[in-house]
Amino acid sequence: MTADSDLKDFIERHARLFVLTGAGCSTNSGIPDYRDGDGQWKRTQPVTYQAFMAGAATRQRYWARSLVGWRHIGAARPNPAHRALARLESAGRSEMLVTQNVDRLHQAAGSAEVIDLHGRIDIVRCMACDHVLPREAMQEALTRLNPGWAGRDAARAPDGDADLEAADFADFAVPDCARCRGLLKPDVVFFGETVPRDRVEAAFAHLARADAVLVVGTSLMVRSGFRFVEAAVAAGKPVAAVNLGRTRADALLTLKVARPCEDALAFLL
Ligand SMILES: [Zn+2]
Repeated sequence: MTADSDLKDFIERHARLFVLTGAGCSTNSGIPDYRDGDGQWKRTQPVTYQAFMAGAATRQRYWARSLVGWRHIGAARPNPAHRALARLESAGRSEMLVTQNVDRLHQAAGSAEVIDLHGRIDIVRCMACDHVLPREAMQEALTRLNPGWAGRDAARAPDGDADLEAADFADFAVPDCARCRGLLKPDVVFFGETVPRDRVEAAFAHLARADAVLVVGTSLMVRSGFRFVEAAVAAGKPVAAVNLGRTRADALLTLKVARPCEDALAFLL
């Protein structure tokens, strides 16, 4: 266990921080994490890109659960961990905040320089014509087409999902694109999907300008985030991590703080 002063020291010693955040930042805002303290799946793995694109039944189940889960994620508010990182930016210490979260809570807390590595849950995109609509408009369409489902409730799950199970999702109506009747998909990077290249390149360009990396609330089990830590270490840049459980990068870290994000970062507020 490391003292708070060590993290404070680390942040003071490095003028430009590349901040990489994950689900642990948002758990205190009521958005559950996918993984336990050992980085293992807590629940059934989320739907893959391939299954979503290929199967109408998969999309019916996805949107039925999302109709219920959106109420929770849509109402989530930033917590002190988000506010502490926004403060870091306003102090001119954040080269860039790259987040694996899709909940937009960093922006809600006041962070302006953010790369949403895995996209954003508050937007829906047509896979045929690229038309985008707010998730709120999708919610209205889902509710209008499925009045019998709108009143249901279920335990919340990550990324605006809910643990809703039904014997049959076959009567659930999924809206399609109002312009071209194309397939609508949340504008988030699904498991099995690749992060857009320009987004990755932008993040690496910021990493090159940073002099250290601060990891907050992620086990780094997903390669799309872990590769930034690998690259930083290869370039001789120190990496500190705040995470309650094990991370994939534990052996590479200069400093590890095993505490809740909002506690470990409280000194910034
Ligand atoms: Zn379309």
